[in-house]
Amino acid sequence: MSEQVVPSPGNNFIRQIIDADLASGRHQQVITRFPPEPNGYLHIGHAKSICLNFGTAQHYGGRCNLRFDDTNPEKEDAEFTRAIERDVRWLGFQWAELCHASDYFQQLYDFAVALIESGHAYVDSQSAERIRETRGTLTEPGVASPFRNRSVAENLDLFARMKAGEFADGSHVLRARIDMASGNINLRDPVIYRIRRAHHHRTGDAWCIYPMYDYTHCLSDMIEGVTHSLCTLEFEDHRALYDWVLDTLDTPCHPRQYEFARLQLEYTVVSKRRLTQLVQRGIVDGWDDPRMPTLAGLRRRGVRPQAIRTFCERIGVTKKDAWIEMQALESCIREDLDACAPRRLAVLDPLRVTLTNLPDDAPEALEFANHPKDESLGTRRAPCAAELYIEREDFAEVPPPKFKRLVPGGEVRLRNSYVIRCDEVIKDGAGKVVELRCSVDADTLGKKPEGRKVKGVIHWVSAAHSLPAEVRLYELLFSEPNPAAAEEFESVLNPDSLSVLSEARVEPALADAAPGETFQFERMGYFCLDPDSDTGSGRLVFNRTITLRDTWAR
Ligand code: ATP
Ligand code: MG
Repeated sequence: MSEQVVPSPGNNFIRQIIDADLASGRHQQVITRFPPEPNGYLHIGHAKSICLNFGTAQHYGGRCNLRFDDTNPEKEDAEFTRAIERDVRWLGFQWAELCHASDYFQQLYDFAVALIESGHAYVDSQSAERIRETRGTLTEPGVASPFRNRSVAENLDLFARMKAGEFADGSHVLRARIDMASGNINLRDPVIYRIRRAHHHRTGDAWCIYPMYDYTHCLSDMIEGVTHSLCTLEFEDHRALYDWVLDTLDTPCHPRQYEFARLQLEYTVVSKRRLTQLVQRGIVDGWDDPRMPTLAGLRRRGVRPQAIRTFCERIGVTKKDAWIEMQALESCIREDLDACAPRRLAVLDPLRVTLTNLPDDAPEALEFANHPKDESLGTRRAPCAAELYIEREDFAEVPPPKFKRLVPGGEVRLRNSYVIRCDEVIKDGAGKVVELRCSVDADTLGKKPEGRKVKGVIHWVSAAHSLPAEVRLYELLFSEPNPAAAEEFESVLNPDSLSVLSEARVEPALADAAPGETFQFERMGYFCLDPDSDTGSGRLVFNRTITLRDTWAR
């Protein structure tokens, strides 16, 4: 589990607001909350909100709650709440309190009664469709419901009976009584309660009426003493309703809502609704498929939380919508892993090499540094043998220009070992190269060859000592920068988003890798042991987290 960290999302407009609030004495401390709806897994967009909410509270020595906004029982689930808690912790944050909007159902009900009593809410018995039709438009005012002037007594009676389960779903709603002609459609008597006979994952069947998001959110913030309620820009037009509820109820404290731009990341989707479709339609292999932009998917892919926090820090927090390039995330992942991932040798697509004259005095094993820049990661030994595997792409019978690796009759250095020369190319009946017979220059171990330059260095593993492994290579899931704009996901999928190499060979030191551990396979990229592995039975599965270099130039 990662340690608690204090990221510094830098100076942003929210910090400036808070600095002013603290300076003026309006607040003495900062309380924020991260309020996911437990209807899916958290994604990289949520990470932005988490880093902002938790990071801001940490910066000011304040508190941040994790609050489940659980007012839509049909779509919500305890599996999702567990996954969300795990992911927030994994990102490196600890909430002050774990809260649920459903804990406030009774208080929210009592507040609704107070609104009715003061003439600020009424039971509307029109159909949902009729209510929608009479909302009006941006240019036309709404039409008042014929039930808008029901008496307080009648409203109280009906609302109590809604709660008691006397009415069918959809037969009545409770509406705030604000202004049917407001320029802000959110204020045209919004629905604040509906009847819904649905089993709630926490409150069971105790309630058959559920409060709406806008009504619930401001009051939940108020109940928790939140000072700064940070949400994404699409809620800007809801702020007037947020304030109306708190002002009208004259609550003891009045949190303020501030909006920031959501993360929009190219070549992926960051919306739970869309991610749910990917999972439900079997386009990906679950919420933690390493191609998913979910925190669970990124974790399984081998991304560390540090990289995600750095990414959130770098993209910053603004009020302006902008698309972020995938490279921005990838370079954070690469930089993080470069610094910490132990190096290993692995051959993903093996080609057999026989060393015909390996000297008798050749060392049994060679010592390799685990990291070129960090000696504290130590060294390991890898067996030296006459039967090896090299990467098939490191040999070319007809080399392209500037090819510095192995060619017939040419020389190359085996990483940390001898210089070898390819003397003979052996093919199978179909003409496929199946083996290279090479001779060793015995005088090149730890020494430059005499009288000539050998430029290429390739990696290798011992045929007898290496371990078989499956390697999963991931590419972008989508072929379009904005897949959400496509009518059907199917038309913008990248057909090569996953390729499985089942014949890979990895050096023996990887036998006791732990699921989730990341390595740099020299020259090949960063890889992470997948939980599908079973090290006991020798099944090793590695996910490529990311390539060594930026491949966007193509
Ligand atoms: P989604 O469309 O992915 O379901 P949501 O807003 O409905 O997003 P919630 O679980 O309600 O999901 O979100 C919890 C918090 O995370 C909210 O405050 C929301 O504004 C924020 N959030 C969600 N998506 C993003 C994003 N892409 N960038 C930044 N913040 C986000
Ligand atoms: Mg939401």
